[in-house]
Amino acid sequence: MTDQAKITVATAWLDGCSGCHMSFLDMDERLIELARQVDIVYSPLVDTKSLPERVDVGILEGSVSNEDDLELAREFRRHCRLLISLGDCAVNGNVPAMRNPFKLDAVMDRAYVETATIQPQRPSVGVPALFDRVRPVHGVVDVDVFVPGCPPPADAIWYVLSELIAGRTPDPTRVTKFGA
Ligand code: SF4
Repeated sequence: MTDQAKITVATAWLDGCSGCHMSFLDMDERLIELARQVDIVYSPLVDTKSLPERVDVGILEGSVSNEDDLELAREFRRHCRLLISLGDCAVNGNVPAMRNPFKLDAVMDRAYVETATIQPQRPSVGVPALFDRVRPVHGVVDVDVFVPGCPPPADAIWYVLSELIAGRTPDPTRVTKFGA
């Protein structure tokens, strides 16, 4: 397969733990096969610093918890022909959304004041302000493919990408489930 035939893929993590990206890497030797068919043009896994104008497939891990997450999700939607929500945090909010039943002030105090052993204070410089509520990716932009799991197994990620490379629409419900 020539470089011209490769599909371009961009990945990013929003409010996530990077576990979904670790699962991507868990494809192990299949990554070599993938590299023959896919160009990763933007990702925490590569050095590229800006999203190309047009990308075939965008993959987002994590939920939308702050302005930076929202901006990146919108940027991916604008630039990517097809957008994948990867993992339970992206699909339904999962762990980050566990703070949703509580007031943001109470969450911030609990995390940075009540449980701090030294210098209790809320971070205010160099970090984006948190939204009152955490949202899944499809709560802010349209999503084309949902891949649940915490994290989704490497086999499921391989299946989804293989189907897309083959020009087919993947059905992740066959190979994924919510939770572990
Ligand atoms: Fe981490 Fe699980 Fe969320 Fe993926 S779905 S970012 S593994 S907590």
